Amino acid sequence: MTDWESLRRSMVDLQIAARGISDMRVLDTMLEVPRHLFVGRGMEASAYGDHALPIGEEQTISQPYMVAIMTAALHLTGEEKVLEIGTGSGYQAAILSKLADRVFSVERIESLAKRARHTLETLGLLNVSIVVGDGTIGWKEFAPYDRILVTAGSPAVPTSLIEQLADPGILVIPVGSMAMQQLRIIEKRDGVVKEHDEGGCTFVPLLGKDGWEHRAR
Ligand code: SAM
Repeated sequence: MTDWESLRRSMVDLQIAARGISDMRVLDTMLEVPRHLFVGRGMEASAYGDHALPIGEEQTISQPYMVAIMTAALHLTGEEKVLEIGTGSGYQAAILSKLADRVFSVERIESLAKRARHTLETLGLLNVSIVVGDGTIGWKEFAPYDRILVTAGSPAVPTSLIEQLADPGILVIPVGSMAMQQLRIIEKRDGVVKEHDEGGCTFVPLLGKDGWEHRAR
């Protein structure tokens, strides 16, 4: 029988902690969440590898290290209301659900949203709400959000997301071309918005009104 716990331990030690992520809450949560339940059937054995994996519909579950970097950049304490754009498999939402108070997640592809909802429910993670829609315009109904995380690459920072970010608040989003982005960290405090880039990354495109509009289905 596969020792999933040992695979998770190696993933966290060798891919995440060894590369400098030291936030113990993030490391402990990634040790806990069964990533193999979020990948497609037959792919479980590869779930803890140092890479993204296909999840169908030409989409991916992000590399564990990238999930860790993005989550650590949010500096979650457990009190926050978080908006995620790009539910995908639901893995990132599961991590956020254990580190924040409430998670709202928007996914444009219905079949992925449905599967993610099912996986999260099976794991008893009931503080996550998922809606099908265009996340480039955020999710106005529950705004403002203490943290916003976009898990697809955008040509620019969508205005609605800045508007729906609480003050103080942190927004993390990959920004750049379709082929390559920079992970941008945007902090809002006392009405002032500051931003910096944390390094290169490669995500599937954010498709929608304020994303890569021309490729939207
Ligand atoms: N966070 C996901 C996970 O943990 O599996 C990985 C997300 S995957 C890299 C990017 C996701 O963003 C895809 O599922 C894609 O369908 C979704 N997406 C792209 N454009 C979107 C948009 N405008 N609104 C919502 N979701 C979008």
